Amino acid sequence: MNKPSIYGLTLDQLTEWLLEHGHKKFRASQVWDWLYRKRVTQFSEMNNVNKECIDVLEENFSIQTLTEHVRQESKDGTIKFLFRLQDGNLIETVLMRHKYGLSVCVTTQVGCNIGCSFCASGLLTKNRDLTSGEIVEQIMNVQLHLDTKGQDERVSHIVVMGIGEPFDNFQNTVDFLEVVKDHKGLAIGARHITVSTSGLANKIYEFADLKLQVNLAVSLHAPNNELRTKIMKINKAFPIEKLMDSIDYYLEKTNRRVTYEYILIRDVNDHKAEALQLAELIGDKRHLSYVNLIPYNPVDEHGDYQRSTPEAISEFFDTLKKKGINCGVRLEQGADIDAACGQLRSKQEKKKEKVK
Ligand code: SF4
Repeated sequence: MNKPSIYGLTLDQLTEWLLEHGHKKFRASQVWDWLYRKRVTQFSEMNNVNKECIDVLEENFSIQTLTEHVRQESKDGTIKFLFRLQDGNLIETVLMRHKYGLSVCVTTQVGCNIGCSFCASGLLTKNRDLTSGEIVEQIMNVQLHLDTKGQDERVSHIVVMGIGEPFDNFQNTVDFLEVVKDHKGLAIGARHITVSTSGLANKIYEFADLKLQVNLAVSLHAPNNELRTKIMKINKAFPIEKLMDSIDYYLEKTNRRVTYEYILIRDVNDHKAEALQLAELIGDKRHLSYVNLIPYNPVDEHGDYQRSTPEAISEFFDTLKKKGINCGVRLEQGADIDAACGQLRSKQEKKKEKVK
Protein backbone atom coordinates (compact mmCIF):
# COMPACT_ATOMS: atom_id res chain seq x y z
CA MET A 1 0.00 0.00 0.00
CA ASN A 2 1.22 3.50 -0.80
CA LYS A 3 2.37 5.42 2.25
CA PRO A 4 1.57 9.13 2.62
CA SER A 5 4.27 11.73 2.18
CA ILE A 6 5.94 12.86 5.40
CA TYR A 7 5.92 16.39 3.97
CA GLY A 8 2.17 16.52 4.53
CA LEU A 9 2.64 17.09 8.26
CA THR A 10 3.11 20.53 9.77
CA LEU A 11 5.69 20.69 12.57
CA ASP A 12 2.88 20.62 15.16
CA GLN A 13 1.28 17.61 13.50
CA LEU A 14 4.62 15.78 13.31
CA THR A 15 5.29 16.53 17.00
CA GLU A 16 1.86 15.25 17.98
CA TRP A 17 2.25 12.15 15.83
CA LEU A 18 5.63 11.27 17.33
CA LEU A 19 4.36 11.83 20.89
CA GLU A 20 1.40 9.56 20.19
CA HIS A 21 3.85 6.91 19.00
CA GLY A 22 5.92 7.10 22.17
CA HIS A 23 8.74 9.39 21.05
CA LYS A 24 10.11 12.53 22.67
CA LYS A 25 9.08 15.98 21.49
CA PHE A 26 12.62 16.98 20.45
CA ARG A 27 12.64 14.19 17.83
CA ALA A 28 10.18 16.20 15.79
CA SER A 29 12.61 19.14 15.54
CA GLN A 30 15.42 16.77 14.58
CA VAL A 31 13.36 15.07 11.87
CA TRP A 32 12.14 18.46 10.63
CA ASP A 33 15.72 19.68 10.35
CA TRP A 34 16.77 16.59 8.38
CA LEU A 35 13.83 17.02 6.01
CA TYR A 36 13.95 20.72 5.30
CA ARG A 37 17.47 21.92 6.13
CA LYS A 38 19.69 18.93 5.38
CA ARG A 39 17.17 17.63 2.86
CA VAL A 40 17.83 13.90 3.08
CA THR A 41 15.88 11.53 0.86
CA GLN A 42 15.96 8.48 3.18
CA PHE A 43 14.86 8.26 6.82
CA SER A 44 17.93 6.11 7.49
CA GLU A 45 20.16 9.13 6.81
CA MET A 46 18.83 10.90 9.92
CA ASN A 47 21.80 9.77 11.95
CA ASN A 48 21.03 11.48 15.27
CA VAL A 49 17.52 9.97 15.37
CA ASN A 50 17.19 6.62 17.20
CA LYS A 51 16.41 3.43 15.32
CA GLU A 52 12.92 2.94 16.84
CA CYS A 53 11.91 6.37 15.62
CA ILE A 54 13.37 5.79 12.14
CA ASP A 55 11.55 2.44 11.94
CA VAL A 56 8.18 3.87 12.86
CA LEU A 57 8.59 6.72 10.36
CA GLU A 58 9.58 4.27 7.62
CA GLU A 59 6.60 2.06 8.39
CA ASN A 60 4.14 4.91 8.11
CA PHE A 61 5.50 7.51 5.71
CA SER A 62 7.37 7.96 2.50
CA ILE A 63 9.90 10.73 1.74
CA GLN A 64 9.65 10.46 -2.01
CA THR A 65 6.20 9.89 -3.46
CA LEU A 66 6.85 11.90 -6.64
CA THR A 67 9.11 10.80 -9.48
CA GLU A 68 10.34 13.01 -12.28
CA HIS A 69 8.75 11.97 -15.58
CA VAL A 70 9.81 14.77 -17.93
CA ARG A 71 11.91 17.90 -17.48
CA GLN A 72 12.00 20.72 -20.03
CA GLU A 73 14.51 23.54 -19.70
CA SER A 74 14.07 26.87 -21.41
CA LYS A 75 16.87 29.12 -22.63
CA ASP A 76 15.74 31.75 -20.11
CA GLY A 77 16.30 29.32 -17.21
CA THR A 78 12.66 28.34 -16.71
CA ILE A 79 12.35 24.63 -15.94
CA LYS A 80 9.13 22.73 -16.29
CA PHE A 81 8.88 19.46 -14.38
CA LEU A 82 6.29 16.79 -14.99
CA PHE A 83 6.05 14.59 -11.89
CA ARG A 84 4.40 11.20 -11.64
CA LEU A 85 2.39 10.60 -8.48
CA GLN A 86 2.21 7.23 -6.74
CA ASP A 87 -1.12 6.49 -8.44
CA GLY A 88 0.36 7.20 -11.89
CA ASN A 89 -1.20 10.64 -12.38
CA LEU A 90 1.00 13.40 -13.82
CA ILE A 91 1.33 16.93 -12.48
CA GLU A 92 3.27 20.02 -13.57
CA THR A 93 5.57 22.21 -11.53
CA VAL A 94 7.52 25.16 -12.91
CA LEU A 95 10.70 26.87 -11.69
CA MET A 96 11.13 30.46 -12.87
CA ARG A 97 14.14 32.71 -12.53
CA HIS A 98 13.48 36.35 -11.71
CA LYS A 99 15.74 39.24 -10.74
CA TYR A 100 14.31 39.01 -7.23
CA GLY A 101 14.82 35.25 -6.80
CA LEU A 102 13.68 31.78 -7.75
CA SER A 103 9.99 31.15 -7.86
CA VAL A 104 8.12 27.85 -8.09
CA CYS A 105 4.62 27.47 -9.44
CA VAL A 106 2.84 24.50 -7.84
CA THR A 107 -0.14 22.39 -8.80
CA THR A 108 -2.88 21.65 -6.25
CA GLN A 109 -5.17 19.21 -8.09
CA VAL A 110 -4.92 16.52 -10.75
CA GLY A 111 -6.93 18.30 -13.45
CA CYS A 112 -9.42 21.03 -12.66
CA ASN A 113 -13.19 21.33 -12.61
CA ILE A 114 -13.41 25.08 -12.99
CA GLY A 115 -13.32 24.75 -16.78
CA CYS A 116 -12.02 28.17 -17.84
CA SER A 117 -12.48 28.29 -21.59
CA PHE A 118 -8.93 29.44 -22.35
CA CYS A 119 -7.09 26.88 -20.21
CA ALA A 120 -5.37 23.67 -21.32
CA SER A 121 -5.72 22.21 -17.81
CA GLY A 122 -9.44 22.80 -17.66
CA LEU A 123 -9.89 20.32 -20.51
CA LEU A 124 -8.77 17.49 -18.26
CA THR A 125 -11.40 17.49 -15.52
CA LYS A 126 -10.41 16.96 -11.92
CA ASN A 127 -9.32 13.47 -11.08
CA ARG A 128 -8.48 14.18 -7.45
CA ASP A 129 -7.09 16.73 -5.00
CA LEU A 130 -3.40 16.61 -4.19
CA THR A 131 -2.51 15.95 -0.56
CA SER A 132 -0.62 18.70 1.25
CA GLY A 133 2.42 16.40 1.18
CA GLU A 134 2.28 16.13 -2.60
CA ILE A 135 2.15 19.92 -2.88
CA VAL A 136 5.10 20.42 -0.50
CA GLU A 137 7.04 17.68 -2.29
CA GLN A 138 6.91 19.67 -5.54
CA ILE A 139 8.89 22.43 -3.80
CA MET A 140 11.24 19.89 -2.22
CA ASN A 141 11.94 18.19 -5.55
CA VAL A 142 12.75 21.51 -7.22
CA GLN A 143 14.94 22.45 -4.25
CA LEU A 144 16.72 19.08 -4.44
CA HIS A 145 17.30 19.67 -8.15
CA LEU A 146 18.88 23.04 -7.29
CA ASP A 147 20.95 21.40 -4.54
CA THR A 148 22.45 18.96 -7.04
CA LYS A 149 23.77 21.91 -9.07
CA GLY A 150 25.83 22.94 -6.04
CA GLN A 151 25.31 26.66 -6.59
CA ASP A 152 23.68 27.28 -3.24
CA GLU A 153 20.44 28.41 -4.85
CA ARG A 154 17.21 28.45 -2.87
CA VAL A 155 13.56 28.56 -3.82
CA SER A 156 12.62 32.00 -2.48
CA HIS A 157 9.11 32.54 -3.84
CA ILE A 158 6.06 30.36 -4.43
CA VAL A 159 3.04 30.93 -6.63
CA VAL A 160 0.08 28.62 -6.19
CA MET A 161 -1.03 29.07 -9.78
CA GLY A 162 -0.45 25.70 -11.40
CA ILE A 163 -3.14 23.23 -12.38
CA GLY A 164 -6.20 23.22 -10.15
CA GLU A 165 -8.18 25.62 -8.02
CA PRO A 166 -6.39 25.84 -4.63
CA PHE A 167 -9.55 26.95 -2.83
CA ASP A 168 -11.30 23.81 -4.09
CA ASN A 169 -8.60 21.95 -2.12
CA PHE A 170 -8.65 24.42 0.72
CA GLN A 171 -7.36 22.62 3.81
CA ASN A 172 -4.52 20.87 1.98
CA THR A 173 -3.46 24.20 0.48
CA VAL A 174 -3.52 25.85 3.93
CA ASP A 175 -1.46 22.99 5.45
CA PHE A 176 1.00 23.30 2.57
CA LEU A 177 1.38 27.02 3.29
CA GLU A 178 2.02 26.32 6.99
CA VAL A 179 4.80 23.87 6.12
CA VAL A 180 6.66 26.01 3.59
CA LYS A 181 6.43 29.14 5.77
CA ASP A 182 7.74 27.41 8.91
CA HIS A 183 10.80 29.35 10.02
CA LYS A 184 12.57 26.20 11.23
CA GLY A 185 12.13 24.58 7.81
CA LEU A 186 12.08 26.08 4.34
CA ALA A 187 11.25 29.46 5.89
CA ILE A 188 9.76 30.96 2.74
CA GLY A 189 8.40 34.35 3.75
CA ALA A 190 4.60 34.71 3.62
CA ARG A 191 5.02 37.84 1.54
CA HIS A 192 6.89 35.81 -1.03
CA ILE A 193 3.96 33.45 -1.51
CA THR A 194 0.95 34.12 -3.75
CA VAL A 195 -2.21 32.03 -3.91
CA SER A 196 -4.33 32.48 -7.01
CA THR A 197 -8.03 31.69 -7.14
CA SER A 198 -10.50 31.72 -10.00
CA GLY A 199 -12.82 33.57 -7.62
CA LEU A 200 -14.42 31.18 -5.11
CA ALA A 201 -15.89 34.03 -3.07
CA ASN A 202 -16.96 31.86 -0.12
CA LYS A 203 -13.38 30.66 0.33
CA ILE A 204 -11.94 34.17 0.01
CA TYR A 205 -13.84 35.00 3.25
CA GLU A 206 -12.33 31.94 4.97
CA PHE A 207 -8.89 32.72 3.65
CA ALA A 208 -9.12 36.31 4.93
CA ASP A 209 -10.04 35.06 8.40
CA LEU A 210 -6.90 32.89 8.57
CA LYS A 211 -4.65 35.98 8.30
CA LEU A 212 -1.83 33.96 6.77
CA GLN A 213 -0.11 37.10 5.41
CA VAL A 214 0.36 35.49 2.00
CA ASN A 215 -0.62 37.35 -1.16
CA LEU A 216 -3.93 36.79 -2.91
CA ALA A 217 -4.40 36.90 -6.69
CA VAL A 218 -7.82 36.67 -8.29
CA SER A 219 -8.29 35.55 -11.89
CA LEU A 220 -10.75 38.10 -13.16
CA HIS A 221 -10.19 38.08 -16.94
CA ALA A 222 -13.36 40.08 -17.66
CA PRO A 223 -14.94 43.16 -16.08
CA ASN A 224 -18.63 42.25 -16.51
CA ASN A 225 -20.77 39.19 -15.84
CA GLU A 226 -21.81 38.54 -19.41
CA LEU A 227 -18.27 38.28 -20.71
CA ARG A 228 -16.86 36.62 -17.59
CA THR A 229 -19.50 33.88 -17.67
CA LYS A 230 -18.63 33.22 -21.32
CA ILE A 231 -14.96 32.63 -20.57
CA MET A 232 -15.17 31.41 -16.96
CA LYS A 233 -18.07 29.15 -15.98
CA ILE A 234 -17.34 29.80 -12.31
CA ASN A 235 -18.85 33.25 -12.73
CA LYS A 236 -22.32 31.66 -12.70
CA ALA A 237 -21.76 30.45 -9.15
CA PHE A 238 -19.86 33.54 -7.98
CA PRO A 239 -20.79 36.53 -10.12
CA ILE A 240 -18.64 39.64 -10.06
CA GLU A 241 -20.70 41.43 -7.37
CA LYS A 242 -20.28 38.51 -4.94
CA LEU A 243 -16.61 38.22 -5.82
CA MET A 244 -15.97 41.93 -5.24
CA ASP A 245 -17.85 41.77 -1.90
CA SER A 246 -15.54 38.98 -0.76
CA ILE A 247 -12.52 41.03 -1.88
CA ASP A 248 -13.80 44.01 0.13
CA TYR A 249 -13.95 41.73 3.16
CA TYR A 250 -10.42 40.44 2.46
CA LEU A 251 -9.06 43.99 2.17
CA GLU A 252 -10.78 45.06 5.36
CA LYS A 253 -9.43 42.07 7.30
CA THR A 254 -5.88 42.01 5.94
CA ASN A 255 -5.16 45.45 4.48
CA ARG A 256 -3.10 43.58 1.90
CA ARG A 257 -3.02 44.32 -1.80
CA VAL A 258 -4.96 42.05 -4.15
CA THR A 259 -3.67 41.22 -7.62
CA TYR A 260 -6.19 40.84 -10.43
CA GLU A 261 -5.03 38.50 -13.17
CA TYR A 262 -6.31 39.52 -16.58
CA ILE A 263 -5.46 37.39 -19.63
CA LEU A 264 -5.68 39.50 -22.77
CA ILE A 265 -7.40 37.54 -25.57
CA ARG A 266 -7.63 39.16 -28.97
CA ASP A 267 -11.05 40.70 -29.67
CA VAL A 268 -12.57 38.90 -26.69
CA ASN A 269 -11.75 40.99 -23.61
CA ASP A 270 -9.05 43.41 -24.79
CA HIS A 271 -11.02 46.48 -25.95
CA LYS A 272 -10.69 49.92 -24.46
CA ALA A 273 -14.28 49.68 -23.22
CA GLU A 274 -13.33 46.68 -21.08
CA ALA A 275 -10.29 48.48 -19.69
CA LEU A 276 -12.57 51.37 -18.65
CA GLN A 277 -15.04 48.95 -17.06
CA LEU A 278 -12.23 47.25 -15.20
CA ALA A 279 -10.99 50.58 -13.83
CA GLU A 280 -14.55 51.37 -12.73
CA LEU A 281 -14.91 47.97 -11.05
CA ILE A 282 -11.73 48.42 -9.03
CA GLY A 283 -12.83 51.97 -8.24
CA ASP A 284 -11.91 53.09 -4.75
CA LYS A 285 -9.95 49.90 -4.07
CA ARG A 286 -7.20 51.10 -6.43
CA HIS A 287 -4.69 51.83 -3.63
CA LEU A 288 -4.82 48.13 -2.67
CA SER A 289 -5.04 46.70 -6.18
CA TYR A 290 -2.70 45.64 -8.92
CA VAL A 291 -3.74 44.41 -12.34
CA ASN A 292 -1.49 41.84 -13.95
CA LEU A 293 -2.08 41.88 -17.71
CA ILE A 294 -1.11 38.57 -19.28
CA PRO A 295 -0.94 38.34 -23.08
CA TYR A 296 -2.68 35.06 -23.92
CA ASN A 297 -0.44 32.09 -24.65
CA PRO A 298 -2.15 30.27 -27.56
CA VAL A 299 -2.58 26.50 -27.09
CA ASP A 300 -3.62 23.97 -29.74
CA GLU A 301 -6.66 23.03 -27.66
CA HIS A 302 -8.21 26.51 -28.02
CA GLY A 303 -7.44 27.51 -31.60
CA ASP A 304 -10.15 30.18 -31.64
CA TYR A 305 -8.39 32.24 -28.96
CA GLN A 306 -5.45 34.39 -30.03
CA ARG A 307 -3.02 36.68 -28.28
CA SER A 308 -3.97 40.37 -28.30
CA THR A 309 -2.02 42.56 -30.68
CA PRO A 310 0.80 44.66 -29.18
CA GLU A 311 -1.30 47.78 -29.96
CA ALA A 312 -4.31 46.43 -28.05
CA ILE A 313 -2.08 45.45 -25.10
CA SER A 314 -0.58 48.97 -25.00
CA GLU A 315 -3.95 50.64 -25.24
CA PHE A 316 -5.41 48.49 -22.46
CA PHE A 317 -2.43 49.22 -20.24
CA ASP A 318 -2.48 52.97 -20.97
CA THR A 319 -6.20 53.20 -20.32
CA LEU A 320 -5.83 51.59 -16.89
CA LYS A 321 -2.84 53.80 -16.08
CA LYS A 322 -4.71 56.95 -17.02
CA LYS A 323 -7.45 55.89 -14.62
CA GLY A 324 -4.89 55.56 -11.83
CA ILE A 325 -4.85 51.75 -11.71
CA ASN A 326 -1.56 50.05 -10.79
CA CYS A 327 -0.84 47.55 -13.51
CA GLY A 328 1.85 45.75 -15.46
CA VAL A 329 2.24 43.38 -18.38
CA ARG A 330 3.62 40.01 -17.33
CA LEU A 331 6.76 39.08 -19.19
CA GLU A 332 6.64 35.73 -20.86
CA GLN A 333 8.89 32.99 -19.50
CA GLY A 334 9.73 29.64 -20.98
CA ALA A 335 8.43 30.63 -24.42
CA ASP A 336 10.48 27.92 -26.12
CA ILE A 337 8.99 25.11 -23.99
CA ASP A 338 5.34 24.18 -23.35
CA ALA A 339 4.84 27.45 -21.54
CA ALA A 340 1.10 27.61 -21.02
CA CYS A 341 -0.12 26.16 -17.77
CA GLY A 342 -1.21 22.55 -18.29
CA GLN A 343 0.23 22.32 -21.80
CA LEU A 344 3.01 19.85 -21.00
CA ARG A 345 0.73 17.60 -18.97
CA SER A 346 -1.97 17.76 -21.59
CA LYS A 347 0.53 16.68 -24.28
CA GLN A 348 1.83 13.80 -22.17
CA GLU A 349 -1.71 12.61 -21.40
CA LYS A 350 -2.46 12.60 -25.13
CA LYS A 351 0.69 10.54 -25.75
CA LYS A 352 -0.53 8.05 -23.13
CA GLU A 353 -3.92 7.85 -24.87
CA LYS A 354 -2.25 7.14 -28.20
CA VAL A 355 -0.22 4.34 -26.66
CA LYS A 356 -3.34 2.69 -25.14
S1 SF4 B 1 -7.26 28.55 -15.31
FE1 SF4 B 1 -6.92 27.58 -13.32
S2 SF4 B 1 -9.00 27.49 -12.43
FE2 SF4 B 1 -9.28 27.83 -14.64
S3 SF4 B 1 -9.50 25.77 -15.52
FE3 SF4 B 1 -7.33 26.33 -15.63
S4 SF4 B 1 -6.41 25.43 -13.80
FE4 SF4 B 1 -8.64 25.53 -13.46
